[in-house]
Amino acid sequence: MNDQHGDNVHSAESVNSSVNKTIKPLYLKNSDLQIGDQTRMTDYDLMICVTKQIGDEVHCLQLDRNLWRIYLKTKDARTKLLSEGLNYKNITVSLYMYDTNPYLAGVNSPDQKTLKVRICGLPLSVDDSAVMELLDNLKIKPTSKIIYEKIRHPVTKRMTSVLNGTRFFYMNPLEEGKYLPRENTCAGLRVRLYHYGQPKVQRSLLCTNCWSDDHTRQFCRNESRCKVCKKEGHMPGDEQCDAFEIQTNITAFSGTGDILSNFFPCTFDVYGIKHQSAEHAFQYTKSIRCGDLETASKIKEAPDALSAKKLGDKVHENDQWRESKFAVMEVIIENKCVQMPMFKEKIRAAKRNTVFVETTFNGTWGSGLDRKGTVNTKQNMWLGKNKLGEIISKIAKKLRKRKKSDQWSRPKSKQNSKENTRQRDIAQMLRDLRMNSDTDSVSGYNASDTDSSEDAQPKAAATTQT
Ligand SMILES: [Zn+2]
Ligand SMILES: [Zn+2]
Repeated sequence: MNDQHGDNVHSAESVNSSVNKTIKPLYLKNSDLQIGDQTRMTDYDLMICVTKQIGDEVHCLQLDRNLWRIYLKTKDARTKLLSEGLNYKNITVSLYMYDTNPYLAGVNSPDQKTLKVRICGLPLSVDDSAVMELLDNLKIKPTSKIIYEKIRHPVTKRMTSVLNGTRFFYMNPLEEGKYLPRENTCAGLRVRLYHYGQPKVQRSLLCTNCWSDDHTRQFCRNESRCKVCKKEGHMPGDEQCDAFEIQTNITAFSGTGDILSNFFPCTFDVYGIKHQSAEHAFQYTKSIRCGDLETASKIKEAPDALSAKKLGDKVHENDQWRESKFAVMEVIIENKCVQMPMFKEKIRAAKRNTVFVETTFNGTWGSGLDRKGTVNTKQNMWLGKNKLGEIISKIAKKLRKRKKSDQWSRPKSKQNSKENTRQRDIAQMLRDLRMNSDTDSVSGYNASDTDSSEDAQPKAAATTQT
């Protein structure tokens, strides 16, 4: 407890120690109280009226111009009064109160619901017109003006006169299942929007039935559409699709049964750690590099690749990981390649123009389509970036420079039970593989097979072996 501030808190508390100031007031328009009554309502009249209904729970009744603020002692009393309304001067219909300040929120009747949206991270110097532009882009019509939040005491919640930079506004509630994106750009700056009901971890909204980006499948009322051409009545890969075309030069893969897939169970080392699949290796490295050691050790023990992925997906990505993950994936696939002869042979044997493609809905690593959709859709219409396929293609290219497939599967030294020898072998094999990306001809190997012509590009730093 900080004593300096502590004194102030205590003196403030001593005045009204029984009152919880974190309870928001209720609001009532004074004009609503005057119906059929000539005499002006006094605070005493209102006090008698409210007390009759909820007993000794009223803390303060304050009239400011046309607005009453009704402060209650408990949340229960507030909820009761808000839901029951006020039985006022024998008017048979109850008089309902406002949950938020109606003038601030821009509402005209107590049953008009509003949604409060906070705008965080925008410098105070940015003009409100930029905010209005952002709201316009999001198709939001605020019911209030843009309001500036003030710093409050952390315990008593009393408001100070100092701004905290956060702005907020009120709008009509969104349809069920819809919410505003948290990350936005305003005046070229990154800002965040927060409101009640917004999921904590936000996926970008996408309906997997009609592919609109403003709701989820659960709340979809549209006909289902093709993910590729967005037309109704067929699925990707069907002949009616605008993007239909049978792909003849692709090697499609997915799932635990396909050795090309990261989900295929196989034990190999990456960065000196033994993993049960490429997926395990990737998610483990992600967790380590993002500082989540606890998840990393769980991933290492995960019984299968899917479990490893689910664990890794929960790890919060940092910027460094976002930038390095493709390079890490390449290292992992290289390691799988030099340590798994079957994998290496499979990609080496593929034709030069083969396009490797992971047929998963993953928009980064796969085609974004299922198998049927992938093999029957023009490649430039695939929805995913197919990064995993690109990495495998790149490594396959290096491999094809070898005349014989097994030349570097086992370095000279016989495999030894000693761990450090094994690690040295892996390191040597990786060096051999990577060397092919820098030069066409490596001493001791013949790189003249026909496939290498397309790689006879800029020779990086000339080799020392000429
Ligand atoms: Zn939909
Ligand atoms: Zn289509």
